[in-house]
Amino acid sequence: MYHKKESYDGECTRILSENYRSTLEALGEDPEREGLLKTPERVAKAMQFITQGYGMDAGDILRSALFHESYSEMVLVKDIELYSLCEHHMLPFFGKAHIAYIPNGIITGLSKIAHVVECFSRRLQVQERLTHQILDVIQETLKPLGVGVVIEAQHLCMMMRGVQKQNCTTTTSAFSGQFMKNETRSEFLKLISHDLT
Ligand SMILES: [Zn+2]
Repeated sequence: MYHKKESYDGECTRILSENYRSTLEALGEDPEREGLLKTPERVAKAMQFITQGYGMDAGDILRSALFHESYSEMVLVKDIELYSLCEHHMLPFFGKAHIAYIPNGIITGLSKIAHVVECFSRRLQVQERLTHQILDVIQETLKPLGVGVVIEAQHLCMMMRGVQKQNCTTTTSAFSGQFMKNETRSEFLKLISHDLT
């Protein structure tokens, strides 16, 4: 499902590499020592890879596999792995997304739902916005009867900097349409509840 980006923008790699070399020096490291010689370039490429969502269009991803279908029960894709970068500290946050929608004549490929998560998580983010962006693009593109999104994630900026208890999980959710009704929302939450901590 996930294709590793093999080519990197040369100019972007050059500029980032120079900056990371300066960063190493500013941190008191010696960029000339053996273990660090190629580090600026590696980091430059890694950062381009983990922010490649900027070059993706979530609407296009969903539209690439639309099918007319009369199925009108809840479609649930749960435990979608996600890795993102908090925009305040540029440190990773990671966890799982659970996404459900009730089709209104149109469904999409299940893998496209996971791909949408990648599109929005592989960029600088806050978990709240990520949750809403996923909901909005599914609502706008599939025009379903409703969408539910729950994301549980652990933030390294909290864990590594010791601001809060280690291993705490942040849960965010967003709902539209039928998911605003208690009954539908409860069914969705029940289906994913054994995953919630
Ligand atoms: Zn942060």
